[in-house]
Amino acid sequence: MKKHIKNEEYELQITDIGTNGEGIGHLEDGYTLFVSGALPGDTVLARIVKAQKSYAFGRLQKIIEASPGRITASCPVADKCGGCQISNLCYEEQLRYKSNKVRELLLRVGGFEEALLDEVMNPIIGYSDKDYSITPERFRNKSQYPIGTDKDGNIIAGFYSAHSHRVVPTDDCLIGSAVDSMVLKTVIRYMNRFHIPAYDESLHKGLIRHVLIRTGYHTGEVMVCLVINGKSLPEKETLIESLINLDLEFGYRITTVCISSNTADTNVIMGDSFEVLYGPGYITDKIGGVSFRISPLSFFQVNPKQTEALYGTALDYAGLTGNETVWDLYCGIGTISLFLAQKAKLVYGVEIIPQAIDNARENAQINGFENVRFMVGKAEEVLPDFYTKAMESHENEEMLSPDVIVVDPPRKGCDGDCLDTMLRMQPQKIVYVSCDPATLARDLKILCESGKYRLSKVTPVDMFPNSVHIETACLLLRR
Ligand code: SAH
Repeated sequence: MKKHIKNEEYELQITDIGTNGEGIGHLEDGYTLFVSGALPGDTVLARIVKAQKSYAFGRLQKIIEASPGRITASCPVADKCGGCQISNLCYEEQLRYKSNKVRELLLRVGGFEEALLDEVMNPIIGYSDKDYSITPERFRNKSQYPIGTDKDGNIIAGFYSAHSHRVVPTDDCLIGSAVDSMVLKTVIRYMNRFHIPAYDESLHKGLIRHVLIRTGYHTGEVMVCLVINGKSLPEKETLIESLINLDLEFGYRITTVCISSNTADTNVIMGDSFEVLYGPGYITDKIGGVSFRISPLSFFQVNPKQTEALYGTALDYAGLTGNETVWDLYCGIGTISLFLAQKAKLVYGVEIIPQAIDNARENAQINGFENVRFMVGKAEEVLPDFYTKAMESHENEEMLSPDVIVVDPPRKGCDGDCLDTMLRMQPQKIVYVSCDPATLARDLKILCESGKYRLSKVTPVDMFPNSVHIETACLLLRR
C-alpha cells in the first residue's frame, strides 16, 4: 500500500457508517477513509486531514453523487448538532443499515452461518408502525440541554456540536418532547430577569449548567431539573411559579421541579444528588401496564414506544406461563424484571448501582409485585457467588437452575465469568437484550460454541432513530 499523506484528495464510494456516524470508504489499495458528513451510497471527494498507516480522517470536499437514501433532515441544526448523526439518511435506509449491521456482525464476529441467519433473523422493528418513509420525531422522553452564552452575551440553550462543547442554540429539538421549548424559554426568561449567569465551562464560572426535562409518555407528567454550579437557586419561587403555570400543549403538565448541584469541573451532566423544589421529586410513567417512578437520576429507557416493542419481544422470547423462575441480569430500575414478573413465578434482578435497586424495589412495591428479589452487585460476581452458595447449601435450588436468564448489559457486553455461570446454570432459554451488536455477537459466539445453546431468534429494534445505535433482542435455546 502506498503511503498516504495529508492534503491528498480522493474520489471514493462510501460503504459504511462508523461509530460516530461518519462515512467509511476504501481506496483501491484498501486504505480506509473516515469522512464525516458522508453517507453510505455517496460518491464523494474527500481530502485527507490526518493520515495514519492504514486509515485516515478525510474532510468532505464535495458530494459527487449523492446516495439515493440521502435526504435533507427536517431539523434546522442537523449538520451542526452532535446529537443525531444520520438524520440525513432516509429512515428506510437507516433501518436497512442497522439490520445489516447486526447480521454482518453475527456473521463475521459471531461466526454464525448465512443459512442460520436467514432463518433466525426477523425484520427490524422500526418506529412508525407501518410507514418507514417517515423519519420519526418527538420520540424521546428525556432531554438535557446545556445552557450557555453566545458571543453577544445572550443566554442560549441548545446542544453541543459534534466533538466539542460549543452550544449550538436550539430551543426546539425535533426528537425531544414538544414541551421542551416552552420550558427552556421560561428558564431563559427567568435567568435574564434576575441576571443569573449561564455556566461557562472554560472558566468554571456561572450558575446554570443544564436543564433536564423528562416527560411521561402515558401520564403526561413533566419533570424539570436545573443542574447548577452552586448550592441554591436565587428567586426560585418565581421560576417554580412560572414553570407550573405554563399552559403546555398535548395534555402535559409540570408536576416536579428539582435542582441538582454539580460544582465539579467535569463533563458529567448531573450532580450526585438532587433537591426537590416542587412536587414529589419524580414523575410516573408506564411500560406495558407496569408503573415506574422516575427521579432525575434514574436510568429509564428514552424511547417509550420502542421500549414496549423491545421488552415485548424479550417477554415473548422468554415464553412465560406463570411457573418459571427467571434471572434478569443488569436490571437497572427493574424495568424488564417487573415486565417479566407479570408472567413468571419468581424473578431475581441484579444491578450494580444501589440507587437503581432502591428504585427497582420501590417500583415492585408500587405495582404490588411480591415475586421479585433484587440484588446489588456486579452480575459477574453476584451470579457465581449465588451459584457456589446454593450448590453448597442446597438452598434456593430453584434459582440455581432457572428456566430463563435475561441479560441486558451495557455496551461492553457480559463479563466472561457471568457467561460461564450462565452456562453452568443451563436455563432452557437465554434472552439477550443488547445495545451493541459487536459485543452481542462476541457473547453469542461464546454461548453457542459451548455446544449447549443454539441461536433461535434475533430481532433488532430501533430505539434510537437518527443515531447509529442499535438495540437487539435474541433468543437462545438449550440444545
Ligand atoms: N435492563 C435495564 C437497564 C439496562 S442498561 C433497563 O432496560 O432499564 C444496563 C444496566 O447494567 C445499567 O443499569 C448499569 O448500571 C448496569 N450494569 C453495568 N455493569 C454492570 C455489572 N457488571 N453488573 C450488573 N449491572 C451492571
